[in-house]
Amino acid sequence: MSDRVIDLVKANWDVLLEKHGKSLYAMRIEDIYSLVAPKPMILYTPLAEMKIHALVKESTIEISWHGLVEKINDMTYLITDILMYPQTCTAATVTTDDEKYTNWLHSQPDEIFNKIRYQGHSHVRMGVMPSGVDLNYYRDMIKNLKKDDFYLFEIRNKTNEMNIRLYQNNDIPEWFVNRELQTTIAINGTPSDVYAQRIMSEFIQKKEYPKPPLEDKLNKAPKTIKGKKGDIKL
Ligand SMILES: [Zn+2]
Repeated sequence: MSDRVIDLVKANWDVLLEKHGKSLYAMRIEDIYSLVAPKPMILYTPLAEMKIHALVKESTIEISWHGLVEKINDMTYLITDILMYPQTCTAATVTTDDEKYTNWLHSQPDEIFNKIRYQGHSHVRMGVMPSGVDLNYYRDMIKNLKKDDFYLFEIRNKTNEMNIRLYQNNDIPEWFVNRELQTTIAINGTPSDVYAQRIMSEFIQKKEYPKPPLEDKLNKAPKTIKGKKGDIKL
């Protein structure tokens, strides 16, 4: 087990105990870790997001695609574009014709080839949890990852549910990376919420209407109210 996992759990133990009580003792360390682990951010360019959305929407069978990824830092990854590759599809499975796929992969220019660090597939109208076949495929793909390498896998369905996994390094147990991720669209490289806040604060000025002073309001307020036995002075 990774020391940094144990260290992070230890460092947060008191806070965790306060929040979750004795139930912590019944949990596996990897689950405890996921409560405090920082959540890496996966950003999509509008182009990548639109392509995934269109492909999943238009296809009635399972399809797969690759993505080009830029690692911004250990916690932030940007999916810049999506590429389809040769594959054979049925309603619920995708297989690659090994020769066609390998030829396709090796025909990519270096600057593209080196950025292919993402694989996504559609579950059409089913849930987005990876199947046993999916997990075997993931394991197969990451077994040659070198230290500091990474790979992203995603499953989408037509209701735009997603299951995205980040595998970092080869030396980290699988559960380590199955932690929650944050995902959002990036506009000009900036998360869309940050972009929206920034552009609004830059261009939109709120007009404040002067409020009448409190005294005016008090002066205009009625001095008496009607009671059963005549007016009551306030
Ligand atoms: Zn699947």
